[in-house]
Amino acid sequence: MNRYSTDPIRLAVPNKGRLEEPTARLLHQAGFRFERTERALSVPIRGRNVEILFVRADDICELVTDGVADLGVTGLDLVAESGADIEVLAELGFGRCRLAAAVPNASSMSSISDFAGLRVATSHPRTTAQFFADKGVEVTTVELRGSIEVAPKLDVADAIVDLVSSGSTMMLNGLRPVVDVLESQAALIRDRQAAVHPAVDQAVTMITSVVAARRKKYVLMNAPRTAVDQIQALIPGFDAPSIVPLAESEMVAIHSVVDVDAVWDVVPRLKEAGASGILVLPIEQLLL
Ligand code: AMP
Repeated sequence: MNRYSTDPIRLAVPNKGRLEEPTARLLHQAGFRFERTERALSVPIRGRNVEILFVRADDICELVTDGVADLGVTGLDLVAESGADIEVLAELGFGRCRLAAAVPNASSMSSISDFAGLRVATSHPRTTAQFFADKGVEVTTVELRGSIEVAPKLDVADAIVDLVSSGSTMMLNGLRPVVDVLESQAALIRDRQAAVHPAVDQAVTMITSVVAARRKKYVLMNAPRTAVDQIQALIPGFDAPSIVPLAESEMVAIHSVVDVDAVWDVVPRLKEAGASGILVLPIEQLLL
């Protein structure tokens, strides 16, 4: 690709499917303002020298390695399946699923070795073949694009390797997962060989700062000075909290950043320790 340093950088994102909406939300939060009309294949981002390309999730790895796009958002399962030299810059925390090997409920199979000699239908043939080869189990992969779970019923295959999140689709189709092949979620990717580009780095910083912020909450509270040590011990981690004197001299305001998973446990304990007026706020972006 002949592209020039003044050209906008290109970010390829899924144009439909499960990753479309959460990816658009992430980009908006990171400051990429755009409106997408139904048929637009790309949109420029006002004032940012960035162009967003809307493409199929399965094409994104190739667009990134071909240099058509500088960055991409797609599933880790598709990165593995592409086999390309791709760098995962950040896991984005949505689109979580696993690639699992499953068999019909009636079958007695319960371990990987039971797959020996079977026909395995999948839309991830490379990953599937590699997985079974690594375990020394010989299978025949049958590549299918969609509706993989009906393959055993149609006698196209004996087993499947497919993406599962809740497991309900497999269950509805009378299938039982036996073993996990890989864990996946959406990721921000680029070609490992791509030249350094400040505008790309800047876009990466803005996107990853949103992902980091989603894992944290900003917690503010008032507390008697005498309770500060006890409260500080309850909110370790990120940084020393800010302690701000209040007009009422016996009281201080305490500000801190807390892991989102810790908030549930920590807040009641802060109250017990004497904190009052506790506010838990979302953080938009977090740059360390
Ligand atoms: P799609 O919605 O078919 O365009 O799926 C694109 C990507 O979404 C997949 O390659 C996965 O990375 C991701 N994904 C997340 N959860 C699931 C799921 N339960 N089934 C299929 N894909 C999923």
